[in-house]
Amino acid sequence: MVHGQVLGARLAPCCRSLARAGALRSRAAAPVASTLPKAARHRAFGSTPRRFRERVSSREDDSTTAVNGAEPELNPAFADIAFAFDIDGVLYKGQEGIPGAREMLQKIRRQGLRYVFLTNGGGAHENAKVASLAKRLGLENPEVVLKDRVIQSHTPMRSWDQDIKEKGTVLVTASQPERARQLAREYGFKRVVTPADLLAANGHIYPFAHLRDSLHKEFSPLPDGKSAAAITDPYSRDIPSDALQIDQILVWNDPRDWSLDIQVIHDLLVSHRGYLGTISTLNGDRSLADHGWQQDGQPALWISNLDLVWKTEYPVNRFGTGAFLHALEGVWAAVTEGAAPLRYHALGKPSRHTYAYAHERLLHYDADVPEAQRAGRRQKRRPLRRVYMVGDNPESDIRGANEFAPEDGTKWESILVRTGVFQPTRAEPEPRYKPTVIVDDVVDAVVWALQNEGADVSREWLLSK
Ligand SMILES: [Mg+2]
Repeated sequence: MVHGQVLGARLAPCCRSLARAGALRSRAAAPVASTLPKAARHRAFGSTPRRFRERVSSREDDSTTAVNGAEPELNPAFADIAFAFDIDGVLYKGQEGIPGAREMLQKIRRQGLRYVFLTNGGGAHENAKVASLAKRLGLENPEVVLKDRVIQSHTPMRSWDQDIKEKGTVLVTASQPERARQLAREYGFKRVVTPADLLAANGHIYPFAHLRDSLHKEFSPLPDGKSAAAITDPYSRDIPSDALQIDQILVWNDPRDWSLDIQVIHDLLVSHRGYLGTISTLNGDRSLADHGWQQDGQPALWISNLDLVWKTEYPVNRFGTGAFLHALEGVWAAVTEGAAPLRYHALGKPSRHTYAYAHERLLHYDADVPEAQRAGRRQKRRPLRRVYMVGDNPESDIRGANEFAPEDGTKWESILVRTGVFQPTRAEPEPRYKPTVIVDDVVDAVVWALQNEGADVSREWLLSK
């Protein structure tokens, strides 16, 4: 038996579902983010189960054969359940893998269980995250165990409308802007601009040169021959044809030069229709909603995740993208004199966009089908009954899973581990967002979940070959 702190009675599945549904209804839904009109959101995003009570056999699988590429054998008891694992603080901490995480992943893969990795990390290609995870876990077969399963905070943008990607121009801010640009292009965005491009195109945009030769030394010409210096009168509506217009602002993970990034994001949010160098004449108009702020066709602002902090080897949690957002909101409150909240969309956990994307991936999961067979094949939908989200951050992992209720009726349960961000303190002995259960680590989390499905499994079994 796993020693876990179960929050709430352990009920029969049907009763638990009803109890959870009631809890969801009664829970005050705190806003994940300020929102732009629904239409804008829709522009971006296109779009009674069986129950097994089967004892899991304790036979030993041939790990070499299975892990090296053969399709795993599906244990029927686990046909309609799945896992979503957070990465930082759950599978590794800093450079060190969490003990047992590797063996656990190998085992559940051999059992044919569906799983994805749901991380608020980003700024690089999903395959880079696979490589770093494999290295930290000491996994020799990352292709089979990890590949095509990583969902980063900005991965849902892969499913954005093609029209937006092909016709629009986006500004991307990120920890490594050039890497982010490459990835955005792979996602299908045709015109990607970074703050460094703007700085190179017009040095007056940011009158401090301290990072110009280091952080901002890599840049590209603006797309379609556009200029960042075309506008001289910010209030003129005689917009030159070569003026740069930005349609979406994508904040991708931990911007490094907050000062420049906040400056250019601000400039676009106060602009007329996203034309760089303009100022909207609606700003501050008290007769309009939000006193006219962000009411003049300015670009939509997307924040890839809201994590205030994340866990490294350092004893005090480190600032994440959420901290950048708070800084931006602070500046916005000063600029608007508190007359209008900053309007933005959030991706990453706990946003519904991210959980819905993960859910779809799990429903159509086919990473175990060889690539050659996958090409041109219509992905089969395999229904789910329950998904277990395993995470270390109550504010993102747990909250997101608790609040996500997909239309197909699948239940998302939340399991909080003690290996990461969450550490009970005297001031906050219990997490603000209550998981179904709290356990010591990711191995115990999976054992608890499988036991919850009626399987007689142990930690030893899960770690065995
Ligand atoms: Mg984490």
